[in-house]
Amino acid sequence: MTDFDTAPSSLLAPDPLSAARALDAGDPLAAYRSRFVGTDDGGVVAYFDGNSLGRPTLAGVERVQRFLVDGWGGRLIRGWDEEWMELPFTIGDALGRAALGAAAGQTFIGDSTTVLLYKLARAAVDALPERSEIVLDTDNFPTDRYVLDGIARERGLRLVWIESDTEAGVTPEQVAAVVGPQTALVVLSHVAYRSGFLADVAAITRIAHDAGALVLWDLCHSAGSVPTELDAWGVDLAVGCTYKYLNGGPGSPAFGYVRRELQERLVQPIQGWMGVRDVFLMGPEYQPAASVRRFLSGTPPIVGMLAMQDTIAMIEECGMEAVRAKSVALTDFAIALAEEWLTPLGVALASPRDPERRGGHITLSHPAMREVTALLWQRDVIPDYRDPGGLRIGLSPLSTSFEETCTGMAAVRDALGELTHDE
Ligand SMILES: *Cc1c(COP(=O)(O)O)cnc(C)c1O
Repeated sequence: MTDFDTAPSSLLAPDPLSAARALDAGDPLAAYRSRFVGTDDGGVVAYFDGNSLGRPTLAGVERVQRFLVDGWGGRLIRGWDEEWMELPFTIGDALGRAALGAAAGQTFIGDSTTVLLYKLARAAVDALPERSEIVLDTDNFPTDRYVLDGIARERGLRLVWIESDTEAGVTPEQVAAVVGPQTALVVLSHVAYRSGFLADVAAITRIAHDAGALVLWDLCHSAGSVPTELDAWGVDLAVGCTYKYLNGGPGSPAFGYVRRELQERLVQPIQGWMGVRDVFLMGPEYQPAASVRRFLSGTPPIVGMLAMQDTIAMIEECGMEAVRAKSVALTDFAIALAEEWLTPLGVALASPRDPERRGGHITLSHPAMREVTALLWQRDVIPDYRDPGGLRIGLSPLSTSFEETCTGMAAVRDALGELTHDE
């Protein structure tokens, strides 16, 4: 664990609250906060879990209402021909352009992250049948590990585990040490869900390709927070959540990315009618579309694709570089506050200090954090808890202010102080 010995305490001068207000005053994205539901009504004191479930946008509320009345209610079945059939791809292209560094025709909105992971990973290993191994890491999100374990059993493949540091993440050196002529696929997360560690996608992708393997990146904790350059980095496959930093709402469908050159080489395992060349031909046999459409299976979940569009539009408007700059400033500020207020209470930083290696959340470690989290939720301060002893502070760049960060961190300090004092 890292001691907070080098945090720039000047960030907190002359006092933390004044510093927070000055940072808000100078924040070029400050005005976006008022475009979210619940940021101005004083209901929640501090929301630190936009990395698990983003807040709704006001535009999204309007869009959903309009859709129910005019779209669904007014257009009825005609809506499919007029707009909905193409929606997975029009939103996918917009997301690719705004946040992923992906040219059109490669990104789509599909099923849940879990199901998309299965479909794309299965398609990848099936495309390299002479290879027998999947590389993954021990600290990836459970669903990623479980899905790959299932595929390995289904296809008779071997899982090659990288032991990752739970306070950091997987390095290019670790990947280089395990890939080889038997590696079919490498699956890793861009931002580690526990520590916030930011993996070097370009370097790791190059290493995997040098070994002749394909890569699948899980972007759940980076999409909408940390920019990617999927095309430029030569990424083969990616999946990611839309209900975290993209504010699509609980259970909104995930996105998938398949590099154009690979699309016709890959056949996904859930061969449904929505993935074929001519959907309404209703033909006798499955003939997958030549495009990214082949990765769809059944009827697209249109209602779930509504709200995310407004966050994608906001990102397109302000630019991912500005989003990332704010994200780094927020995590820097939270770390400075933790040094000032929480180090004296025995808290350690379980996330990278270097902003270049850090995503949009930080984890603070102390044995009492489970109890601290429960107490904070009662007080309308909402972080989340991950074992062992980790309080996750997720700072969604478009909806979180520096003052909110300051108020929430003060509540963490007070709760921890009360709980450890009681003992
Ligand atoms: C949140 C998250 C998921 C969630 O998958 P669902 O299918 O949406 O439940 C998967 N992987 C990672 C890395 C995540 O952070």
